[in-house]
Amino acid sequence: MKQKVYDLIGVGIGPFNLGLAALMDPIKEMDTLFFEQKEQFNWHPGMLIEGTRLQVPFMADLVTMADPTNPYSYLNYLKHHNRLYHFYFLQRLEMPRNEYNHYCQWAANQLESCQFGSKVLAVVPIGKPVGRYEITVEKLTTGETETYVAKNIILGVGTIPSLPKALQDLPEEDVFHSSTFLDHTERCKQAKKITVIGSGQSSAEIFRELLKERQEYGYSLNWVTRSQGFFPMEETRLSLEHFSPEYVDYFYDLPQEQKDDIFKGQQLLYKGISPHTITDIYNLLYEQSVGGKDMDVMLMPLTEINGVREKEDGTGYEVECRQWQKGENFLLDSEVIIAGTGYRPLIPKCLQDLEEIIDWDEQGRYHVSKDYRLNLTCEASSHIFVHSGMQHTHGVGSTNLGLAVNRNKIIINQLAEKEIYPVLEGNIFQQFERNE
Ligand SMILES: Cc1cc2nc3c(=O)[nH]c(=O)nc-3n(C[C@H](O)[C@H](O)[C@H](O)COP(=O)(O)OP(=O)(O)OC[C@H]3O[C@@H](n4cnc5c(N)ncnc54)[C@H](O)[C@@H]3O)c2cc1C
Repeated sequence: MKQKVYDLIGVGIGPFNLGLAALMDPIKEMDTLFFEQKEQFNWHPGMLIEGTRLQVPFMADLVTMADPTNPYSYLNYLKHHNRLYHFYFLQRLEMPRNEYNHYCQWAANQLESCQFGSKVLAVVPIGKPVGRYEITVEKLTTGETETYVAKNIILGVGTIPSLPKALQDLPEEDVFHSSTFLDHTERCKQAKKITVIGSGQSSAEIFRELLKERQEYGYSLNWVTRSQGFFPMEETRLSLEHFSPEYVDYFYDLPQEQKDDIFKGQQLLYKGISPHTITDIYNLLYEQSVGGKDMDVMLMPLTEINGVREKEDGTGYEVECRQWQKGENFLLDSEVIIAGTGYRPLIPKCLQDLEEIIDWDEQGRYHVSKDYRLNLTCEASSHIFVHSGMQHTHGVGSTNLGLAVNRNKIIINQLAEKEIYPVLEGNIFQQFERNE
């Protein structure tokens, strides 16, 4: 029997491919499938801490910025769960992170194109020029493999936690990445000394959570970062315009060397801490120190961690620190060390058969066209689209949920070879270059 050829197969179902599935759902003339290895949609589960919120307004849901009438909008989710009034009275633009996860699960469970418990093992190009891809998928419940054929594929495999060398090869129950924080809360409660590393949003949320419970469980708490301070994310209105289609366009057209330089200087646009989280932390510190109580809490910027060694008596770890501005070394005692040290792009194993045809740069990054296709070294009528690993080409907004919807519009219009979702201009007030 002739094998069915899909128009698009997606690898991974995080918010980016889920949004694509939701926006492609009404387009009946195109056949799509998306595969996710997890049993169900689950968004960074180790960081779904109660009280945390999305860092973008609810309009950056799966579909609204492309089509507010799509049934998979957040407002429709609220309607179906009888929560419209609750959200209305909440008087806030950002939904809780837990609710974003529940909303995405609600959408994923209805989308027939989304298949869970399905790990993509291999993607093999077919034909010269490449005109198809063969995708091998393992069904994790049965261990069986199946093959599918698609005209185009899209990688939505996200990122992986990045753990510095100094923190690797240590017992995982004591020294772990922020992405698994909720798996380790019991261990934290038993510890006498805890150190949180990093000054991004994840570290701040974990520090806030541990600070809240510190008096009940009686541990001492260190918060250490190499940065010069615990700085806020730049969230004022005109700065937010860097997360617009216009800025992506402007950035994309700059020479690569210049892009790498600019990106390094934009850390506070995406790496700092939400001001409300800093306020919460400060309020807790203030309340807990009433009456001059010795809090056993230390916040240390300007401090890098150069090594961690297990103590001989088995009571924890010595953390080798360096206050780099003054050049002073010192040791910190800790039983638990939590690394809020960020994420790096994932180049999944299933790409191995494509490695030869992908056009890599000298730093091992792939070249991505303006419209989100991987540049290939051979001729191809089929495309490999990507959602991640393109901060170097498309800039600071690449991992932003709101911009992902715009990216999905551009991808869908290419697949359909017509404008299904209009890509509008004039979205912001500033101009990044002089328009004639
Ligand atoms: C804790 C946290 C909070 C964030 N909060 C925000 C926010 O508030 N606002 C914002 O704009 N951005 C936020 N981001 C950044 C970004 O929006 C998210 O990282 C988002 O999850 C990226 O979506 P994604 O679809 O690319 O990847 P992911 O959500 O990482 O999903 C990728 C999926 O691919 C699957 N996969 C990988 N390989 C395979 C394979 N071979 N076969 C099958 N499946 C596979 C993985 O299991 C995974 O589920 C946050 C990031 C983190 C880490």
